[in-house]
This record gives sequence, structure tokens and C-alpha cells, in this order.
Amino acid sequence: MTAAIPLTITILGSGTSTGVPLIGCDCDVCTSNNPKNHRTRASLLITRKDTGEHLVIDTGPDFRQQMLRANVRKLSHVLYTHTHADHSHGFDDLRVFCFKNKEAIDCYLPEEMIEEFRTRFSYAFHDTGYPGTPPRVSLHPIPEQLFHVMGLPIEAVRLPHGAVNTAGFRLGRFAYCTDFKHFPSEILNQWRGKVDTMIASGVHFHEHKTHSNVQETIQLFHELRVRQGIITHLAHQVEFERDSANLPENILFAYDGLRLNVTT
Ligand SMILES: [Zn+2]
Ligand SMILES: [Zn+2]
Ligand SMILES: [Zn+2]
Repeated sequence: MTAAIPLTITILGSGTSTGVPLIGCDCDVCTSNNPKNHRTRASLLITRKDTGEHLVIDTGPDFRQQMLRANVRKLSHVLYTHTHADHSHGFDDLRVFCFKNKEAIDCYLPEEMIEEFRTRFSYAFHDTGYPGTPPRVSLHPIPEQLFHVMGLPIEAVRLPHGAVNTAGFRLGRFAYCTDFKHFPSEILNQWRGKVDTMIASGVHFHEHKTHSNVQETIQLFHELRVRQGIITHLAHQVEFERDSANLPENILFAYDGLRLNVTT
């Protein structure tokens, strides 16, 4: 077994696909003054404490604002859970990091989504004739076996999310999984007891076609026996203070800017 690596985890965005507040909504959460009810699109920053290197999971539409808020100045690695707009449409803002980087940014995504990604952001992969600087990236299929990024051990699992499978990531004793309907039983068995801190999506309290809801995600944390569970990708049905009061003691709702220390 290799030595544990200390990490700082920052929730860059804790919101569902629309973000909260929703455009044009006057509900109590959307009009709340509590910053914990303001949610940009779901994304995570992982920082190695020993080297200060950053790894980002997903570049949603709020990516630029999130990089400014977290004061990230250098970035060379991105993991993508999947290519839905709320997880990928901040891609263009990677270009700013390319101004400084000598090497292309290494982006990992599920193998079957690579072609779609190249088509969606085709200007970054073909000569358009325009003399600007698009993001310079190398796309890598997420390996099925344990792999390493920035020296961090990463295990990816495939989780059902409607018509697609997203990638859920485990870095030793820490896991981040967003956008899934449920955990297949073989992955439950594989991960049970291995994760101390887990961030997983929950959206809201109702049945959802393609997402696990808050109650189901709490159940998932219990089944995996995680010590600390954090529910992210939240919609405007979740009021931070009111609904936090009903959570089990070791589970909390994510909010933008939440920072934790974990080890691999
Ligand atoms: Zn999403
Ligand atoms: Zn609302
Ligand atoms: Zn999605």
C-alpha cells in the first residue's frame, strides 16, 4: 500500500443543471440571502497539499467564475464525469490556462464520449483559420483499471444516468460521484467500507428519472458505510438551513466554497 496523500477538496459548484437561483424564479430559496442557497453548476477542485497542484472535476458553465473565486492560477489536469452541458460548457475558459502552460491540458473522459466532445468543441480540434488561441487539450479515455493523475491514484466506476453512464471517481479514501440514478450492486460491494468521505449528487426530495434523490443518496452513504457524506448537485427545492436540520449527523449538504481536508 502506498502512503496516503493529503488533499484539500473545494466544492466549486453545488448546483443542479440550472444553477440556483433559477432564472425568473421567486421561490424562497432563489430569493434567499443565504449564500449557501446560491449554487453554481456542480464542479470540484482537488488540491495536493504537498505540491499545491490542482485537479478539476468537470468544467461547467460557471467554470470561469469558479476559477476566479478559488484563485486557481495554474491547471493542467481535468477529469470529466460526462459531457452534459452543465458539466462541460465552461470548456472554453481552459484556454486561459493554456496561455501559460507549455503542455496541453490533459482531459480524461469516458471513452464513448470523446467523439461527441470533439464534435461539440470542434474549433479546439480543427484549424478554423481564425488566429486565436483555443483551449489546447489532450483527450484521454478514462482507463478501466486504477490510473494516476498528478501522482494521485484514481479508480473510476461507471454509473447509470439515463441514456449515458457517468464516471464516478475514487481517490483512495475519498470519492466524488455526480449524476447517477443508482449504484450497481457490484460497485456497492467493491467500494463498501473503502471510502471515508464521499461527495455524491442528490438534486431534491422527489423521484427523478435520471438522478438519485436526497433520500436515495443518504441510503447510498449508509450502504457504503462512509464516515462523512456530502450531497451536491442540488436544486432550488433544497433550502440549506431548513433541510440541513433533517439530515443524519454525518451527512451535510454541499455549498459553493465548502472546503475539506481529506487523504487518499
Ligand atoms: Zn448534472
Ligand atoms: Zn426557485
Ligand atoms: Zn448529467
